[in-house]
Amino acid sequence: MLVSAAEMLKKAKAGHYAVGQFNINNLEWTKAVLLTAQENNSPVILGVSEGAGKYMAGYKTVVGMVNGMLEELNITVPVALHLDHGSYDACYKCIEAGFSSIMFDGSHYPIEENIEKTKELVKVCADKGISLEAEVGSIGGEEDGVIGMGECADPKECKAIADLGIDFLAAGIGNIHGKYPENWAGLSFETLDAIQQLTGEMPLVLHGGTGIPTDMIKKAIDLGVSKINVNTECQLSFAAATRKYVEEGKDQQGKGYDPRKLLAPGFEAIKETVKEKMEIFGSVGKA
Ligand SMILES: [Zn+2]
Repeated sequence: MLVSAAEMLKKAKAGHYAVGQFNINNLEWTKAVLLTAQENNSPVILGVSEGAGKYMAGYKTVVGMVNGMLEELNITVPVALHLDHGSYDACYKCIEAGFSSIMFDGSHYPIEENIEKTKELVKVCADKGISLEAEVGSIGGEEDGVIGMGECADPKECKAIADLGIDFLAAGIGNIHGKYPENWAGLSFETLDAIQQLTGEMPLVLHGGTGIPTDMIKKAIDLGVSKINVNTECQLSFAAATRKYVEEGKDQQGKGYDPRKLLAPGFEAIKETVKEKMEIFGSVGKA
């Protein structure tokens, strides 16, 4: 059964580790992430962007697929199904469809409007036992066509949003989505520390986990980050493994064209990436 992410992140914050949010794109992705979580006895958050939700034929399809897998694959570790960077409308659609966690990304609204809409969703989610992530300050890079610059959030605004009763908070600390550019300045631990000082127990979320050096990840966890989003890295390892299979001509040998064979190396590559991340984040054995 799907669970809210509130409890697993509270435990992570108290235990000084982080739970990975791995974005899913299809059946192979979902199965790979769930099996890896189970094998490593780790809690896990499945992230679904609006674009991925659409690709997978809608939020209800996603909920059906994930719930089916939890049962058929005997997944017993805590699993949350989470809307990633949701618009106001998408939040309601996912609540309706059966998601156990949502992120309302009101970072592009003026702070007053972000507060107003977040406050409303706090109430709706609390009534249904769904966890809610909010965002302050835009997170750089490109996600579903939205481009930001790797900003740092204002700690006072973070405090204002945290106090509304959300379950975890995403704040820009110089992180960006996608691949990091050569001249990236690194994470701003000064900003992270200032946010953490003001928001206290609130689990903080680090978006754009792909390509952040391991020592920076560990330091961020020490400073209160309890959820780390990984998306691009799984896409890169899936693509590389699939490319290798095709370049070696394996799709043209025997029944190598069978999608169950063609997609198998990519599936294994996602599992490997997810396992590596769980080890770095410290969530192995914490289910
Ligand atoms: Zn993000």
